[in-house]
Amino acid sequence: MSPPSSSGIYVSRGVALLLAGLTAALLLVLVALAALYGNCARVQPLEQHSPGVKDTELITFGGQEQAPPTPTPDAAREPAVATTSKDWRPPSGPWEHLRLPPWLVPLHYDLELWPRLRPDDLSTSSLTFTGRVNITVRCTVATSRLLLHSFLLEYKRVEVWGPLALGTRNAGAGRVPVDNVWFALDTQYMVLDLGRALQPGSRYELDLSFSGRVLQHASEGLFLNFYFDQGEHRALIASQMEPTFARSVFPCFDEPALKATFNITIIHHPGYVALSNMPQLGQSERVSVNGSRWTVTAFRTTPRMPTYLVALAVCDFDHVSRTERGKEIRVWARKDDIANGNVDFAVNITGPIFSFLEDLFNISYPLPKTDILALPAFDNRAMENWGLLIFDEASLLLDPDDETTEKRAMVLSIVSHEVGHQWFGNLVTMSWWNNIWLNEGFASYFELGIINYFYPNLPRNEIFFFNFLHGVLREDHALESRAVSTEVESFTETREINELFDIYTYNKGACMARMLHSFLDQHLFVNALKSYLETFSYSNAEQDDLWRHFQMAIDEQNIIHLPTTVKSIMDSWTYQGGFPVITLNVSTGIMRQEPFYLEKAENQILVSRNNTWIVPIFWMKNGTTQPLVWLDKSSMVFPEMQIADSDDGWVILNLNVTGYYRVNYDKLGWKKLSQQLEKDPKAIPVIHRLQLVSDAFALSKNNYIEIETALDLTKYLAEEDEILVWFEVLVNLINRDAISDVNNFAIYPLLKKYLLKRISSIWNTYSAIIRENVAALQDNYLALLSLEKFFETACWLGLEDCLQLSKELFRKWMEDPETAIPHPIRRVILCNGIALGSDKEWDFLLRFYINTTEEEEEEEGRVHLIYALSCSKEPWTLNRFMEYAITVSPSPFNETNIIQAVAASEVGWYVAKDFLINNWLAVIDSRTLHWYGPESLDDLVWVIGRTVSTDLQVMELQRFLGNVLEEHQRTVAHAKLQAIKTENLKNKKRIARLAEWLRKNT
Ligand SMILES: [Zn+2]
Repeated sequence: MSPPSSSGIYVSRGVALLLAGLTAALLLVLVALAALYGNCARVQPLEQHSPGVKDTELITFGGQEQAPPTPTPDAAREPAVATTSKDWRPPSGPWEHLRLPPWLVPLHYDLELWPRLRPDDLSTSSLTFTGRVNITVRCTVATSRLLLHSFLLEYKRVEVWGPLALGTRNAGAGRVPVDNVWFALDTQYMVLDLGRALQPGSRYELDLSFSGRVLQHASEGLFLNFYFDQGEHRALIASQMEPTFARSVFPCFDEPALKATFNITIIHHPGYVALSNMPQLGQSERVSVNGSRWTVTAFRTTPRMPTYLVALAVCDFDHVSRTERGKEIRVWARKDDIANGNVDFAVNITGPIFSFLEDLFNISYPLPKTDILALPAFDNRAMENWGLLIFDEASLLLDPDDETTEKRAMVLSIVSHEVGHQWFGNLVTMSWWNNIWLNEGFASYFELGIINYFYPNLPRNEIFFFNFLHGVLREDHALESRAVSTEVESFTETREINELFDIYTYNKGACMARMLHSFLDQHLFVNALKSYLETFSYSNAEQDDLWRHFQMAIDEQNIIHLPTTVKSIMDSWTYQGGFPVITLNVSTGIMRQEPFYLEKAENQILVSRNNTWIVPIFWMKNGTTQPLVWLDKSSMVFPEMQIADSDDGWVILNLNVTGYYRVNYDKLGWKKLSQQLEKDPKAIPVIHRLQLVSDAFALSKNNYIEIETALDLTKYLAEEDEILVWFEVLVNLINRDAISDVNNFAIYPLLKKYLLKRISSIWNTYSAIIRENVAALQDNYLALLSLEKFFETACWLGLEDCLQLSKELFRKWMEDPETAIPHPIRRVILCNGIALGSDKEWDFLLRFYINTTEEEEEEEGRVHLIYALSCSKEPWTLNRFMEYAITVSPSPFNETNIIQAVAASEVGWYVAKDFLINNWLAVIDSRTLHWYGPESLDDLVWVIGRTVSTDLQVMELQRFLGNVLEEHQRTVAHAKLQAIKTENLKNKKRIARLAEWLRKNT
């Protein structure tokens, strides 16, 4: 699947916003973006339960329209008769475990699915499908109990036939009596109690007819999309099986190692086209019991593959096709999008990506075709189903006029990720979900190589730092973070499998792949991957298998020597959470490692586990790259890294930041670096200027070094012309904690003086670009990532030219809203235009928002408009805005919560808090603002309690909450208020030190 939206190059904007954190508005915009882009890491728990199927309850027969029986010999058989009573409870048994018992091995599925979607009847509120599956299995252990996965399906027929005569299917097979069928809901099994034991070595057929429901609001199993195309309301059906939703579409052995071949048949309305993993084999017609005509589309047999890659779609999309090395690639989308050329970019890059990976791995793509489907709404952004890749259209389509490298790189990297899975995941699959990071980490890492291939000028180290490393380093820490690779036995619930699709699987997984690559050379890295992929094609592997192939490649050569086996090195990283802080004492040359803790306490080392990592240390001395060393103990001496106080020298560890760790130095080491920055910053490469700022602020925030050490690194900023480095400084220096609380007023004039003195050179560069040649921005990838925060801060500091430019751009936009404001700074310009303007500007923007349809403006753009309206500095305007929001009906503000938006603005917090408290009942009544979900409780507490720092303040708010919340919500809300208070007190101390340092250095 595609990574969670807070990672990956294509959400650079989202990441940028996350990192910015200048105001909470950014965070809220991010929430909206997350909703916009979807998020494959958070799989919603299934809500609905199939009627009639309860734990251990009998199977139910009938109820749904069934396909007339197909002309097969078993059509005349009677259904199995269930004999248990409702009071019956299962004894202890294998159905209590998450893993299937190894009694049966599935070999082949004949699967027929018939979703009842009709283009002339889209009113249906609960769409059903029926299905039939014939599974050929081989018995390996004698058993009279048969388990397979099934979830929320109802059954009409459950039969077991066999043993099959060798070489034939079903001929002369006898029927194995099915005495009882029941369901273990927690573990999502159906259990068949057989009247006769199955014999090891023999093959059997399971023949089941079933029905289920097509979901409407979640991309799980079979699901619907409703959308508009060519001015009409339309619908389609698509599938998402990963990780465990195949079992809600058809009964199956739903584990990644239980690979089988599939013959898939889809019955659909003749007005639709049906797609699946393989090319179409043939079509026929079927007449339903009520006389309606349906098309039966059969597909060719798949290669051996896991159930989670089964895919199908029923839609009336158009497509564009290309041929790459003799194989057809088709991209399917709404007819309007096809006509506009919105899929052209995707269809043009896909073939070359396939060829690039075929050449890299020297393994041909084994399927005869590739279909790519762009869904109007898909929670997962993208899914790599073999031969039928499914994308959210926002991740695949590109307006032909959109020249931005940013958007192109986004589409390119998502497509690369999913195409990478065709080998890593589809051809070779992890044996169990605990190794899902192998799929996702390597697919994510290949994105980078492919982007580099298409855009060789993009700065790959900085992009990786920004899109993969930075985010996960901020989350990962030694005490609570999960390890990339988990133990197989540690899984007890299906939910835990869904939760694995997180930042560790994707981002840390990609960092692991990159670090491994860094201490092997390109040739060796690729050769080991090739040999691994060849060996395990159509089969399954574990991470140890991958390490073994790397080890074989290492053992075959004499150039690269490792301190120990690849497995020992990598296990030290994948089997423990967190990462090390490497501290180099440049006076003594002693280097040591310790786990990174969030807010390390003085005595933390004593309570920690004794964890060490085997750390590859690439390093640089005075700008010259030095030979790799390894830190494989808690502390070692490297005399070559020593520097005398009298020296001019400096040392930086973690060259190009390929290692997954942070670096600390002794006082002298840091001093030498800040001196070098002041003397000649360009002698230190951009990636390391970025790293120094990032590491120093993270270490100071978490009590590893003094904040003054980090601040010293910013003195040279007047000479810094790389906007990404500025961005990193501003993110760390000016954030919500520091500036959203008026009690921290003393800091503002100090920051203003300190930064304005240094910002003019880089400001002049970028203001000239914005004024004279905004198109030049489009190819400056790092500027696209950083400009918003930079511009916003410059204006916040009161830089006269920034305010002027904001007014100019806003005025031009008011004169002609067709004139686009440069995309990276659109949100800031709209906000500044309102903040610096009068009610004339405000009224104009509100009218513009109300008159803009959702078709004309994307959700992100609409959210920007709402946040801009909240930027007014007039309390009465903000009050009027909130008043309007809760009284107007129907509400035009579907995208976001207005009170939250106001609370997030610079002056709006007090206004919003008072408004909420004084108008509580009206707010609740308005129904436009839902405060009662678990997340909105967080939002509520945040709106009213953001700046609390005393017990008295907490008590006052608790009194208010006590009147409006339920008992259980009150407890949660009180705990949150206390947490905010503690955090704010800590920030106050930090800010006092920051202020003191600024006073001395301004
Ligand atoms: Zn993926």
